[in-house]
Amino acid sequence: MTGMTGRKAELAENLARVEERIAAACVSAGREREEVTLIVVTKTYPASDVRLLHELGVRDVAENKDQDAAPKAAACADLDLRWHFVGQLQTNKVRSVTSYADVVQSVDRPKLVTALSAAAEKAGRELGCLLQVALDAESGARGDRGGVAPDGIEELAAAVDAAPGLRLDGLMTVAPLAGPYAGRRRAAFDHLMDLSTALRATRPAANMVSAGMSADLEEAVAAGATHVRIGTAVLGVRPRLG
Ligand SMILES: *Cc1c(COP(=O)(O)O)cnc(C)c1O
Repeated sequence: MTGMTGRKAELAENLARVEERIAAACVSAGREREEVTLIVVTKTYPASDVRLLHELGVRDVAENKDQDAAPKAAACADLDLRWHFVGQLQTNKVRSVTSYADVVQSVDRPKLVTALSAAAEKAGRELGCLLQVALDAESGARGDRGGVAPDGIEELAAAVDAAPGLRLDGLMTVAPLAGPYAGRRRAAFDHLMDLSTALRATRPAANMVSAGMSADLEEAVAAGATHVRIGTAVLGVRPRLG
């Protein structure tokens, strides 16, 4: 690693450790390493880190707040990166997010689908959409941190199907901290996989399953996740909640 700056060497070391964890989890689950894509969650960290991560081979990054993400994406516009938006999304931010995001992983209500579709059409872009599922939400409700209740998936999927400019790519979840799945991450991810299987029965192309963060990527890979979203384990502990 000679010639690397301190920060680049640190990121390289962290990435190598995460890569080892993903590879080991794939071996344990009898899956090919290629079945799992690492998305690095760069929220609260500067564009210079995104640039270093790109130099280290990262091609998928995620952000959760438009006000931070928009300038970062602009500063990195010369890089071949896929930007994933993973935060709760207000409709008044949709136009901005659509200008840089390739995939919005937090689609959780019909009103947001309508707004994303209009923005994507206007921008002449096709936007990938993951439906965020709140596994602990009551029927018809949304989760505290966003997400549609499992029984709302079909209606939302139909809305995306019918929306010009949008492409239904699959499902995303954050393991619930409370409720029946608290402390049962594997069970939560298994439930998400069942919901994905049901979705793919009628929409085989919607095969992305985004689950697993720094603390629980092994459980997510074991359950069948195709995408893991890793922040802390690559970039370090965030100074503030983000
Ligand atoms: C911050 C965040 C992550 C990454 O979490 P870490 O614990 O830092 O790995 C993943 N998904 C979402 C939706 C996030 O907001």
